[in-house]
Amino acid sequence: AIAALTLAGCSSRGDVATDGASAAAGFAADSTIGVALPDKTSENWVLAGQLFTDGLTEAGFKPDVQYAPANNTVPEQQNQISSMVTNGAKVIIIGAKDGAQLSSQVEAAHDAGATVIAYDRLILNTEAVDYYLAFDNFKVGELQGQALLDGLAAKSPDKKSYNIELFSGSPDDNNAGVFFDGAMSVLQPKIDDGTLVVVSGQTAVAQTATQGWLAQNARSRIDTLLAGNYASADLDGVLSPNDTLARAIIEGVVAAGKPIPVITGQDSEVESVKSIMAGEQYMTIYKDTRALVAQAIVMVQDLQKGDTPEVNDTESYDNGVKVVPSYLLAPLVVTKDTAAEVYKGNDSLEPLTK
Ligand code: BGC
Repeated sequence: AIAALTLAGCSSRGDVATDGASAAAGFAADSTIGVALPDKTSENWVLAGQLFTDGLTEAGFKPDVQYAPANNTVPEQQNQISSMVTNGAKVIIIGAKDGAQLSSQVEAAHDAGATVIAYDRLILNTEAVDYYLAFDNFKVGELQGQALLDGLAAKSPDKKSYNIELFSGSPDDNNAGVFFDGAMSVLQPKIDDGTLVVVSGQTAVAQTATQGWLAQNARSRIDTLLAGNYASADLDGVLSPNDTLARAIIEGVVAAGKPIPVITGQDSEVESVKSIMAGEQYMTIYKDTRALVAQAIVMVQDLQKGDTPEVNDTESYDNGVKVVPSYLLAPLVVTKDTAAEVYKGNDSLEPLTK
Protein backbone atom coordinates (compact mmCIF):
# COMPACT_ATOMS: atom_id res chain seq x y z
CA ALA A 1 0.00 0.00 0.00
CA ILE A 2 2.84 2.36 0.83
CA ALA A 3 4.49 2.03 -2.58
CA ALA A 4 1.21 2.97 -4.24
CA LEU A 5 1.12 6.34 -2.50
CA THR A 6 2.32 9.27 -4.54
CA LEU A 7 1.72 13.00 -4.34
CA ALA A 8 0.60 15.07 -7.26
CA GLY A 9 3.67 15.82 -9.30
CA CYS A 10 5.53 12.67 -8.32
CA SER A 11 5.65 10.05 -10.98
CA SER A 12 4.52 6.53 -10.28
CA ARG A 13 7.41 4.15 -10.68
CA GLY A 14 5.31 1.02 -10.81
CA ASP A 15 6.45 0.60 -14.40
CA VAL A 16 10.14 -0.03 -13.63
CA ALA A 17 10.92 -3.39 -15.15
CA THR A 18 13.08 -5.96 -13.41
CA ASP A 19 16.19 -5.77 -15.50
CA GLY A 20 18.16 -8.97 -15.05
CA ALA A 21 21.05 -7.59 -17.08
CA SER A 22 21.79 -4.76 -14.68
CA ALA A 23 21.26 -6.82 -11.53
CA ALA A 24 25.00 -7.38 -11.23
CA ALA A 25 25.46 -3.67 -10.49
CA GLY A 26 22.80 -3.79 -7.79
CA PHE A 27 22.68 -5.99 -4.71
CA ALA A 28 20.80 -8.96 -3.28
CA ALA A 29 17.04 -8.46 -3.03
CA ASP A 30 17.03 -9.40 0.67
CA SER A 31 19.86 -7.08 1.70
CA THR A 32 20.00 -5.10 4.92
CA ILE A 33 18.95 -1.47 4.57
CA GLY A 34 19.94 0.90 7.39
CA VAL A 35 17.68 3.73 8.49
CA ALA A 36 19.17 6.14 11.05
CA LEU A 37 16.61 8.61 12.39
CA PRO A 38 17.15 11.52 14.80
CA ASP A 39 15.46 11.94 18.14
CA LYS A 40 11.66 12.13 18.04
CA THR A 41 11.22 15.92 17.96
CA SER A 42 8.08 15.67 15.84
CA GLU A 43 5.36 13.13 15.08
CA ASN A 44 6.74 12.73 11.55
CA TRP A 45 9.92 11.09 12.88
CA VAL A 46 7.92 8.60 14.96
CA LEU A 47 5.76 7.69 11.98
CA ALA A 48 8.73 7.39 9.61
CA GLY A 49 10.37 4.66 11.70
CA GLN A 50 7.28 2.47 11.60
CA LEU A 51 6.72 3.08 7.89
CA PHE A 52 10.34 2.22 7.05
CA THR A 53 10.20 -1.00 9.06
CA ASP A 54 6.94 -2.10 7.45
CA GLY A 55 7.65 -0.87 3.92
CA LEU A 56 11.17 -2.26 3.63
CA THR A 57 10.03 -5.60 5.02
CA GLU A 58 7.14 -5.70 2.57
CA ALA A 59 9.60 -4.97 -0.26
CA GLY A 60 11.70 -7.98 0.79
CA PHE A 61 14.60 -6.16 2.48
CA LYS A 62 15.91 -6.51 6.03
CA PRO A 63 15.36 -3.14 7.70
CA ASP A 64 17.70 -1.94 10.43
CA VAL A 65 15.87 1.11 11.79
CA GLN A 66 17.51 3.04 14.64
CA TYR A 67 16.65 6.24 16.47
CA ALA A 68 19.28 8.39 18.08
CA PRO A 69 18.26 8.67 21.75
CA ALA A 70 17.49 12.14 23.09
CA ASN A 71 20.62 12.06 25.28
CA ASN A 72 24.00 11.96 23.62
CA THR A 73 22.26 12.03 20.24
CA VAL A 74 25.12 12.87 17.92
CA PRO A 75 27.64 10.24 19.11
CA GLU A 76 24.88 7.63 19.33
CA GLN A 77 23.77 8.33 15.78
CA GLN A 78 27.38 8.14 14.61
CA ASN A 79 27.72 4.73 16.31
CA GLN A 80 24.47 3.49 14.82
CA ILE A 81 25.60 4.39 11.30
CA SER A 82 28.97 2.71 11.86
CA SER A 83 27.21 -0.48 13.00
CA MET A 84 25.01 -0.45 9.91
CA VAL A 85 28.17 -0.31 7.79
CA THR A 86 29.71 -3.18 9.75
CA ASN A 87 26.50 -5.17 9.34
CA GLY A 88 26.75 -4.83 5.56
CA ALA A 89 23.86 -2.44 4.87
CA LYS A 90 23.68 -1.71 1.13
CA VAL A 91 21.83 1.57 1.49
CA ILE A 92 21.88 3.83 4.55
CA ILE A 93 19.04 6.33 4.84
CA ILE A 94 19.81 9.07 7.34
CA GLY A 95 17.66 11.69 9.04
CA ALA A 96 20.58 13.56 10.59
CA LYS A 97 20.55 14.86 14.11
CA ASP A 98 23.42 17.17 13.23
CA GLY A 99 24.04 17.30 9.49
CA ALA A 100 27.55 18.67 9.97
CA GLN A 101 28.82 15.83 12.13
CA LEU A 102 28.42 12.71 10.03
CA SER A 103 31.17 12.97 7.41
CA SER A 104 33.46 10.23 8.73
CA GLN A 105 30.58 7.81 9.17
CA VAL A 106 29.10 8.33 5.70
CA GLU A 107 32.57 8.24 4.15
CA ALA A 108 33.13 4.85 5.80
CA ALA A 109 29.74 3.74 4.46
CA HIS A 110 30.79 4.79 0.98
CA ASP A 111 34.13 3.02 1.23
CA ALA A 112 32.23 -0.14 2.15
CA GLY A 113 30.14 0.23 -1.03
CA ALA A 114 26.88 1.47 0.53
CA THR A 115 24.75 4.23 -1.00
CA VAL A 116 23.94 7.10 1.36
CA ILE A 117 20.59 8.89 1.17
CA ALA A 118 20.05 12.00 3.28
CA TYR A 119 16.41 11.81 4.37
CA ASP A 120 14.53 15.06 5.13
CA ARG A 121 17.68 16.77 6.47
CA LEU A 122 20.79 17.38 4.37
CA ILE A 123 24.19 15.97 5.41
CA LEU A 124 26.87 18.64 5.05
CA ASN A 125 30.51 18.94 4.00
CA THR A 126 31.08 15.53 2.47
CA GLU A 127 31.15 14.03 -1.02
CA ALA A 128 29.78 10.80 0.42
CA VAL A 129 26.11 11.71 0.30
CA ASP A 130 24.61 10.31 -2.89
CA TYR A 131 21.03 11.56 -2.78
CA TYR A 132 18.83 13.93 -0.83
CA LEU A 133 15.15 13.16 -0.43
CA ALA A 134 12.90 15.72 1.25
CA PHE A 135 9.94 18.00 0.94
CA ASP A 136 11.00 21.28 -0.64
CA ASN A 137 12.19 23.08 2.48
CA PHE A 138 12.55 26.55 0.96
CA LYS A 139 8.99 26.26 -0.32
CA VAL A 140 7.84 25.30 3.21
CA GLY A 141 9.28 28.58 4.47
CA GLU A 142 7.77 30.60 1.62
CA LEU A 143 4.35 29.09 2.31
CA GLN A 144 4.68 29.89 6.03
CA GLY A 145 5.70 33.49 5.29
CA GLN A 146 2.87 34.03 2.83
CA ALA A 147 0.33 32.45 5.17
CA LEU A 148 1.45 34.72 7.99
CA LEU A 149 0.84 37.77 5.78
CA ASP A 150 -2.50 36.42 4.56
CA GLY A 151 -3.62 35.56 8.09
CA LEU A 152 -2.75 39.01 9.43
CA ALA A 153 -4.53 40.78 6.59
CA ALA A 154 -7.62 38.61 7.01
CA LYS A 155 -7.78 39.03 10.78
CA SER A 156 -7.06 42.75 10.99
CA PRO A 157 -7.68 44.29 7.55
CA ASP A 158 -7.70 47.82 8.94
CA LYS A 159 -4.29 47.78 10.61
CA LYS A 160 -1.53 49.60 8.78
CA SER A 161 1.24 47.62 10.42
CA TYR A 162 1.52 44.41 12.38
CA ASN A 163 3.77 43.52 15.31
CA ILE A 164 5.40 40.14 14.83
CA GLU A 165 8.14 37.90 16.21
CA LEU A 166 10.20 35.32 14.35
CA PHE A 167 11.22 31.82 15.46
CA SER A 168 13.45 29.35 13.67
CA GLY A 169 14.41 25.73 14.33
CA SER A 170 17.55 24.07 15.63
CA PRO A 171 20.84 25.38 14.22
CA ASP A 172 22.28 21.85 13.90
CA ASP A 173 19.49 20.96 11.43
CA ASN A 174 20.23 22.35 7.96
CA ASN A 175 16.49 22.61 7.33
CA ALA A 176 16.10 25.27 10.00
CA GLY A 177 18.01 27.89 8.02
CA VAL A 178 16.34 26.92 4.75
CA PHE A 179 12.84 27.23 6.27
CA PHE A 180 13.80 30.61 7.68
CA ASP A 181 15.30 31.86 4.41
CA GLY A 182 12.18 30.78 2.55
CA ALA A 183 9.96 32.63 5.01
CA MET A 184 12.16 35.73 5.00
CA SER A 185 12.10 35.84 1.20
CA VAL A 186 8.43 36.77 1.67
CA LEU A 187 8.59 38.66 4.98
CA GLN A 188 11.74 40.79 4.61
CA PRO A 189 10.25 43.14 1.97
CA LYS A 190 7.27 43.68 4.28
CA ILE A 191 9.60 44.38 7.21
CA ASP A 192 11.52 46.82 5.01
CA ASP A 193 8.39 48.71 3.96
CA GLY A 194 7.04 48.87 7.53
CA THR A 195 4.05 46.58 7.08
CA LEU A 196 5.62 44.20 9.60
CA VAL A 197 7.41 45.35 12.75
CA VAL A 198 9.59 42.88 14.63
CA VAL A 199 9.27 44.65 17.96
CA SER A 200 12.21 42.84 19.61
CA GLY A 201 14.42 43.65 16.63
CA GLN A 202 15.49 39.99 16.53
CA THR A 203 15.53 39.17 12.83
CA ALA A 204 18.83 37.31 12.38
CA VAL A 205 18.45 33.55 12.20
CA ALA A 206 20.83 33.03 15.13
CA GLN A 207 18.68 35.30 17.34
CA THR A 208 15.54 33.36 16.47
CA ALA A 209 16.93 29.81 16.85
CA THR A 210 15.28 27.09 18.95
CA GLN A 211 18.02 24.71 20.07
CA GLY A 212 17.11 21.04 19.62
CA TRP A 213 13.69 21.98 18.20
CA LEU A 214 12.59 21.77 21.85
CA ALA A 215 9.23 23.20 22.92
CA GLN A 216 10.62 24.39 26.25
CA ASN A 217 13.19 26.57 24.45
CA ALA A 218 10.54 28.25 22.30
CA ARG A 219 8.42 28.71 25.42
CA SER A 220 11.13 30.45 27.38
CA ARG A 221 11.99 32.70 24.42
CA ILE A 222 8.38 33.81 23.91
CA ASP A 223 8.03 34.44 27.65
CA THR A 224 11.11 36.67 27.55
CA LEU A 225 9.98 38.45 24.38
CA LEU A 226 6.54 39.17 25.80
CA ALA A 227 7.87 40.40 29.12
CA GLY A 228 10.46 42.63 27.46
CA ASN A 229 8.58 44.06 24.50
CA TYR A 230 4.84 43.64 24.79
CA ALA A 231 3.86 45.19 28.10
CA SER A 232 1.65 47.65 26.24
CA ALA A 233 1.90 46.51 22.60
CA ASP A 234 -0.11 43.81 20.81
CA LEU A 235 1.61 40.79 19.33
CA ASP A 236 -0.22 40.26 16.04
CA GLY A 237 1.73 37.47 14.43
CA VAL A 238 4.43 34.85 14.98
CA LEU A 239 6.48 32.93 12.44
CA SER A 240 6.90 29.50 14.03
CA PRO A 241 8.81 26.89 12.00
CA ASN A 242 6.79 23.89 13.18
CA ASP A 243 3.77 22.70 15.12
CA THR A 244 5.50 21.58 18.31
CA LEU A 245 6.98 25.06 18.70
CA ALA A 246 3.77 26.82 17.65
CA ARG A 247 1.86 25.12 20.45
CA ALA A 248 4.53 26.06 22.99
CA ILE A 249 4.42 29.68 21.82
CA ILE A 250 0.62 29.74 22.03
CA GLU A 251 0.85 28.42 25.60
CA GLY A 252 3.25 31.21 26.50
CA VAL A 253 1.01 33.87 24.99
CA VAL A 254 -2.05 32.52 26.80
CA ALA A 255 -0.11 32.31 30.09
CA ALA A 256 0.80 35.98 29.64
CA GLY A 257 -2.89 36.81 29.29
CA LYS A 258 -2.55 37.98 25.68
CA PRO A 259 -4.75 37.16 22.67
CA ILE A 260 -3.40 34.38 20.44
CA PRO A 261 -1.56 35.89 17.45
CA VAL A 262 -1.73 34.63 13.88
CA ILE A 263 0.84 31.83 14.11
CA THR A 264 2.32 29.42 11.58
CA GLY A 265 3.36 25.79 11.95
CA GLN A 266 4.48 22.73 10.06
CA ASP A 267 3.98 18.93 10.15
CA SER A 268 0.19 18.56 10.58
CA GLU A 269 0.58 17.17 14.07
CA VAL A 270 -2.67 15.92 15.60
CA GLU A 271 -2.77 18.52 18.40
CA SER A 272 -2.07 21.34 15.96
CA VAL A 273 -4.78 20.25 13.54
CA LYS A 274 -7.18 20.35 16.50
CA SER A 275 -5.86 23.79 17.42
CA ILE A 276 -6.36 25.02 13.86
CA MET A 277 -9.92 23.70 13.77
CA ALA A 278 -10.52 25.46 17.11
CA GLY A 279 -9.34 28.76 15.56
CA GLU A 280 -6.09 29.02 17.56
CA GLN A 281 -3.02 28.06 15.50
CA TYR A 282 -3.50 29.69 12.09
CA MET A 283 -1.89 27.24 9.71
CA THR A 284 0.32 24.21 9.29
CA ILE A 285 2.12 22.50 6.44
CA TYR A 286 1.25 19.02 5.25
CA LYS A 287 4.27 16.90 4.42
CA ASP A 288 2.88 13.40 3.98
CA THR A 289 5.46 11.17 5.64
CA ARG A 290 3.95 8.16 3.87
CA ALA A 291 4.86 9.67 0.50
CA LEU A 292 8.42 10.51 1.58
CA VAL A 293 9.09 7.04 2.96
CA ALA A 294 7.48 5.44 -0.10
CA GLN A 295 9.81 7.45 -2.36
CA ALA A 296 12.82 6.40 -0.27
CA ILE A 297 11.83 2.76 -0.76
CA VAL A 298 11.45 3.30 -4.52
CA MET A 299 15.03 4.64 -4.51
CA VAL A 300 16.24 1.57 -2.62
CA GLN A 301 14.46 -0.71 -5.10
CA ASP A 302 16.08 1.11 -8.03
CA LEU A 303 19.51 0.78 -6.42
CA GLN A 304 18.88 -2.90 -5.73
CA LYS A 305 18.26 -3.47 -9.43
CA GLY A 306 21.33 -1.51 -10.40
CA ASP A 307 19.27 1.38 -11.78
CA THR A 308 19.98 5.03 -11.08
CA PRO A 309 17.27 6.49 -8.85
CA GLU A 310 15.21 9.32 -10.30
CA VAL A 311 15.89 12.85 -9.04
CA ASN A 312 14.00 16.05 -9.85
CA ASP A 313 16.37 18.75 -8.58
CA THR A 314 20.09 19.06 -9.26
CA GLU A 315 20.72 22.64 -8.20
CA SER A 316 19.11 23.57 -4.90
CA TYR A 317 21.00 21.59 -2.26
CA ASP A 318 24.70 22.42 -2.03
CA ASN A 319 26.09 20.69 1.04
CA GLY A 320 29.29 22.73 1.10
CA VAL A 321 31.33 20.46 -1.17
CA LYS A 322 28.81 19.26 -3.76
CA VAL A 323 25.32 19.85 -5.04
CA VAL A 324 23.46 16.77 -3.89
CA PRO A 325 21.06 15.27 -6.47
CA SER A 326 17.67 15.62 -4.86
CA TYR A 327 14.17 14.33 -5.07
CA LEU A 328 11.87 16.98 -3.62
CA LEU A 329 8.19 16.53 -2.86
CA ALA A 330 5.71 19.40 -2.69
CA PRO A 331 4.57 20.67 0.75
CA LEU A 332 0.97 21.87 1.08
CA VAL A 333 -0.54 24.71 3.14
CA VAL A 334 -3.32 23.87 5.57
CA THR A 335 -5.66 26.37 7.22
CA LYS A 336 -9.00 25.84 8.90
CA ASP A 337 -10.68 26.48 5.55
CA THR A 338 -8.64 23.97 3.57
CA ALA A 339 -7.93 21.21 6.11
CA ALA A 340 -10.79 18.89 5.18
CA GLU A 341 -9.81 19.04 1.52
CA VAL A 342 -6.04 18.69 2.04
CA TYR A 343 -6.30 15.75 4.46
CA LYS A 344 -8.93 13.89 2.43
CA GLY A 345 -7.90 10.25 2.31
CA ASN A 346 -5.54 10.43 5.29
CA ASP A 347 -7.21 8.26 7.92
CA SER A 348 -5.27 9.71 10.82
CA LEU A 349 -5.94 13.38 10.02
CA GLU A 350 -9.24 13.52 8.15
CA PRO A 351 -11.47 12.78 11.17
CA LEU A 352 -9.97 15.76 13.04
CA THR A 353 -11.37 18.19 10.50
CA LYS A 354 -14.96 17.03 10.80
C1 BGC B 1 11.71 18.59 9.75
C2 BGC B 1 10.45 19.21 10.28
C3 BGC B 1 10.38 19.03 11.79
C4 BGC B 1 11.68 19.40 12.47
C5 BGC B 1 11.70 19.04 13.94
C6 BGC B 1 12.88 19.16 10.49
O1 BGC B 1 14.08 18.72 9.97
O2 BGC B 1 11.83 18.84 8.36
O3 BGC B 1 9.35 18.60 9.66
O4 BGC B 1 9.37 19.83 12.31
O5 BGC B 1 12.76 18.77 11.83
O6 BGC B 1 11.54 17.67 14.14
